[in-house]
Amino acid sequence: MDHTHQHGKPVSILRFSGCKEIIVDNRQLENIFNHPEIQDRKVVILSLIGAFRGGKSFFLDYCLRFLYAHFPSINNPSKQTQTFFRKDDNWIGKPDEPLKGFSWRAGTKRETVGINIWSDVFLHTLNGENIAIFVMDTQGLFDRDSSPTDNSRIFALGTLISSIQVLNLNHQVQEDQLQYLQFATEFAQYTLKNKGKMDGKPFQNLTFLIRDWQNCHEFEYGPYGGKRYFEDEVLKIRPSQGSELQTVREYIKNSFDQIGCCLLPYPGTDVATSPQFDGRLTQMDEKFKIELKNVIEHLLMPDNLTLKKLNSQKLTVKQVKVYIEQYLKIFQSGDVPKALTVFQSMLESNMNSLIKDCIDKYKTGIFYDKNLKNLESIPIVHKKWKYEALKFYNDSKKIGDKQHEEIYKAQLDNKLEVVYSEFKNIHEQRFKELKKKEDECHAKVEQE
Ligand code: GDP
Ligand code: MG
Repeated sequence: MDHTHQHGKPVSILRFSGCKEIIVDNRQLENIFNHPEIQDRKVVILSLIGAFRGGKSFFLDYCLRFLYAHFPSINNPSKQTQTFFRKDDNWIGKPDEPLKGFSWRAGTKRETVGINIWSDVFLHTLNGENIAIFVMDTQGLFDRDSSPTDNSRIFALGTLISSIQVLNLNHQVQEDQLQYLQFATEFAQYTLKNKGKMDGKPFQNLTFLIRDWQNCHEFEYGPYGGKRYFEDEVLKIRPSQGSELQTVREYIKNSFDQIGCCLLPYPGTDVATSPQFDGRLTQMDEKFKIELKNVIEHLLMPDNLTLKKLNSQKLTVKQVKVYIEQYLKIFQSGDVPKALTVFQSMLESNMNSLIKDCIDKYKTGIFYDKNLKNLESIPIVHKKWKYEALKFYNDSKKIGDKQHEEIYKAQLDNKLEVVYSEFKNIHEQRFKELKKKEDECHAKVEQE
C-alpha cells in the first residue's frame, strides 16, 4: 500500500491578490483537466472549504490516503481498477507515518488565499461508468481578514465547481455561516423559476463537517448524529432569525440533492496545539481516530461518491472544464455575481459545449468516411455528416428556450460550413493531384 502521496502535489488554480482581485492560473487548470485519459470520464470533485487553521488540509490528506489505498490514479496507473470495491481496512496507514499531501502546519501565519487542486486524479469504475475523482482545498478564507463578500464569493465558486462541497466548521454551525449559502439558494430559486428548462436540483452534495464537537451527549459523533443535529437544530426556523436566514433555510433543500453533516471529536492536545505534530496517528485521541476513519469512509465509499451533474445530466471532465473556466471568468470581477448572471453563463457554456460536440462528430464522420473516394463524393459525405451533426443537436437535451436554441443552431450551421470549406479545399486538392498522377501513369503505360 502506498501512503506516500508522492504521485501528486497541490496546485494553485486560483488565488486572491491584494484584497479583491482573483488571479486564475489557466495553465495549471489545463494541466490537470486536459489529461487525455480522463476527457470522457464522469466527474467527482470533492471540495473542502472553511476558516484558516480549521484542520482542512489535515482532513484532506487523510482523504488522499483513502483514495490512494483504493483507486489507481493518472500518476499511478499500476494499481488495478477494482470491478468490485473491496474496502482495505488498513487504508488509514501506519501509526507513526507522518502526514503528507496538501500543506498543513501548526502556527498562526496565514498562508496564501485561494483554491488548490491535487495534481493527481483518481480513477474508478462506478456501476459500469468510468469516473475521475478530483480533490480541492481552499486556503485561508473565512478568517477575520477576509470580508463576507470574499467568503460568499469563494463559497459560491466552490459550490458551482464541486460535486461534494464540505463546509468545515468549528464547534457548531453559526447563524452567519448559513449566509454563505445565500448564493446557492438564490441560484436554486432561479432554476426553480425556470422549471421546464431545468431538471433537478442545481447542486449535488453539501456536507457540514463540524470539528471539536462538544455536544456528543445529545448528538453522537459521525454522520448519524450529524444528520440529527442538522435537521433538529440547524434547519429549525425560529421567529428571531432574520428573513434572509429563514429563506436560506427554506431553500437549502431545493439547492442540493443531498445535505449531510458529520461530527468529529476533539483530536487531542498534540493535534490541536503541538508545533511538532506531524500528522501521525499515534498522537491522536483514540476516539478521534475511529471517527476520522468513519467519516472519511462515509464521504468517499464509492456508493456515496456524488457525480457532478447539470440539468440532471452527468458531466464529463471535458465539459466540466468549460464550465469552470466560464465561472472563474465571472468571479474575477470584485463582487459576488448575481445568480442570474451565472445562470445565463451556464446556459451559454452548455450550448457551446454541445456545439463543440456536434462539430467533433461532424469532423470525425467526414474524416473517416469510407465513401470519400473522389471529387464527386466530397459534397455527398458533407451532406450526410452535417445531417448527423444537426440531428445530434436537435436530439440533445438543452437548457435554453426555443429562440435561444434557434440562434445556436444557426451558429452551428455556420461553423459546420466553415469546417466543410477547409475540408473541401484540402480534399479537392488531394483528389486533383491523385487524378493527375493517375493520368500521367496511364499515359506512360500507353506510351510503352
Ligand atoms: P487549514 O488551514 O484549515 O488547512 O488547517 P490545517 O490542516 O493546516 O491544520 C491547522 C492546525 O489544526 C494544525 O495544527 C492541525 O494539527 C490542527 N488540527 C487538525 N485537525 C484538527 C481538529 O479536528 N481540531 C483541532 N482543534 N485542531 C485540528
Ligand atoms: Mg490548509
